[in-house]
Amino acid sequence: MKKYDVVVIGAGPGGYVAAIRCAQLGLSTACVEGWINDEEKPALGGTCLNVGCIPSKALLDSSHHFHHIKNEASDHGITVSGATIDVNKMISRKAKIVKALTMGISGLFKKNKIDWLKGQGKLISNNQVEVIPLHESHDEKIIVEAGNIIIATGSVPTKIPPASVDDKLIVDSTGALKFNEVPRRLGVIGAGVIGLELGSVWNRLGSEVIVLEALPDFLSAVDKQVAKEAEKVLRKQGLDIRLGAKVTGTGSNNREVTINYDDAEGKQQITVDKLIVAVGRTPNTNGLGAEECGLELDERGFIVVDDHCKTNLENVYAIGDVVRGPMLAHKASEEGVAIAEKIAGKPGHMNYETIPWVIYTWPEIAWVGKTEEQLKAEGIEYRTGNFPFMATGRAKAMGEATGFVKILADAITDRVLGIHIFGPNASELIAEAVVTMEFDGSSEDLARTIHAHPTLSEALHEAALGVDGRTIHM
Ligand code: FAD
Ligand code: AMP
Repeated sequence: MKKYDVVVIGAGPGGYVAAIRCAQLGLSTACVEGWINDEEKPALGGTCLNVGCIPSKALLDSSHHFHHIKNEASDHGITVSGATIDVNKMISRKAKIVKALTMGISGLFKKNKIDWLKGQGKLISNNQVEVIPLHESHDEKIIVEAGNIIIATGSVPTKIPPASVDDKLIVDSTGALKFNEVPRRLGVIGAGVIGLELGSVWNRLGSEVIVLEALPDFLSAVDKQVAKEAEKVLRKQGLDIRLGAKVTGTGSNNREVTINYDDAEGKQQITVDKLIVAVGRTPNTNGLGAEECGLELDERGFIVVDDHCKTNLENVYAIGDVVRGPMLAHKASEEGVAIAEKIAGKPGHMNYETIPWVIYTWPEIAWVGKTEEQLKAEGIEYRTGNFPFMATGRAKAMGEATGFVKILADAITDRVLGIHIFGPNASELIAEAVVTMEFDGSSEDLARTIHAHPTLSEALHEAALGVDGRTIHM
C-alpha cells in the first residue's frame, strides 16, 4: 500500500493549494480528484476554475465589453454601429481560459511532485483513503495510507423543490455559464452573489432579467448604505429585482418556464425563457464515507472543525466550502496553506477577520471587516469617512464615477474596523483595505499614506481623511 505524509481529497482552490504547500514543505503528497469536465476529461481546479470564479468572470468581462461598446463608447466620441454578440464565441473563449488554467494546475502538480489520484476519494479510517477510479479508466480501486488527510470536497449548488433543475430551461449556476443564445426573458431565483453576477452577464447582453428574492432586504449581509445604493444602480441597469418574492413552484413546457411566487400582494406568476436557480451552495460530502468513519457533520451538512480546521478524527482536517465560514475561493486557499504549515510543524495562521468579499456586479461591491449595522449591534463606538467616486479625477476621466468608499474606524483608537467600496474596480481596491486591517492600521495611517494621482485609490485616501473631517476634494 502506497503511503503519503498527506492525502488531500478534492483539488479546488482549497485542496490544490494545500497540496502544493504541503509538497513545498517537503511532505510527500497525493491529491484525489474526480472532476470530469465538459470534454469528458479529468480536470483539477474544482468549482472555482471549472464552473465558478473564473468562467463567471470571463463572461462578466465579455459582457462588460459588449455593454460598454453599445452604451458608453459614444460618450468617448467612439461610434460603433451594428455591434453584435456571438454567444458561442464568448462561451468558447471562456472554455479556453478554463482549460489553460486547469491544465496549469496539473503542471504545478508535476512540478511539485504531487501524485494526482484520479477518482472519488473515500475515507476508510483516519489514515486510509480509498480511491474509486473514474468510470472511463480501467484502474482498480486502490487504498492509500496517509499520515494526515485534508478534506477539501467543496460545495454544490443548492437544490430547491419548487424549481428542480432540468439543465435545459431551468439551470443552476453551471448551466448559466453555457447558454448558447441570449434568453429574451431570464428569471433568476436568489439575489445573492451568484444570482446577481449571472443576472448581470445576461442582462448586459440584452436579456430582460427578473430576479426573485425571498428575503425582504436586498443583500442583507452587505453594509446597508452600500446595499441601498447598489440596489438603485442595478435596477437602473435593468435588473428587475423583486424582493420578498418566494418562489413556490415552476412548470416548463419545453419552450418556456412559468414561475409561481408569493409576495406581499399575494400569489404571482411570471413566464420566462430560461430560469437560473441561484439559491446558495450546499457543502459536499457525497461519497466521502463520513458516516461510516464517524466524521462529524453539523445539521446543515458542514464538516465540523475547530479554529484550526481539525475535525473530530485525529490527523484529519477539513477546509474550504465544506466547513463553516464564507464560501470563497481565497478563504479555502488560505485555510489550505495554514493547515499544510501546521502539519509541517510551522505556526500556520488564518485571520478570519480580514477576509475580503467581492460581488462582481458593475460597479463592483467589495468589503472587509464589519458593517455599520454590525458595529451598532455590538455597541462599538465608531467614526465614518465617506468619499464618492464622483469627486475623484480618475473615476471621472474613466467615465466610471458611480459609487463611494466608506471607512469605519474605532472612535477611540481610530483602528480601522471595516471598509466598504461600491465602485469601479472595487475588487482590486479592497486589497489596500485588507492590508490596512491585517496590520491593525488606523484611518490616520491610511490618511498619511501617499496615494498616486490620479487613481481610483485616492477615493480610499479621501475617505480616510474624512474619518477626521478633513477630506480635501469635498
Ligand atoms: P471546490 O472548488 O468546490 O472543489 C472541491 C473539489 O473536490 C471538486 O473539484 C470536486 O470534484 C472534488 N471532490 C469532491 N468530493 C470528492 C471526493 N470524494 N473525491 C475526490 N474529489 C472530490 N468565490 C470567490 O472567492 N470569488 C468568486 O468570484 C467566486 N465566484 C463564483 C462564481 C460561481 C458561479 C460559483 C458557483 C462559485 C463562485 N465562488 C467564488 C465560490 C468558489 O468557487 C468556492 O468558494 C471555491 O471553489 C471553494 O473551494 P473548495 O476548494 O472548498 O471547493
Ligand atoms: P446566496 O446564498 O448568497 O447565493 O443567496 C441565495 C439567495 O436565494 C438567498 O438570498 C435566499 O434568500 C434566496 N432564496 C432561497 N430560496 C428562495 C426561493 N424559494 N425563492 C426566492 N429566493 C430564494
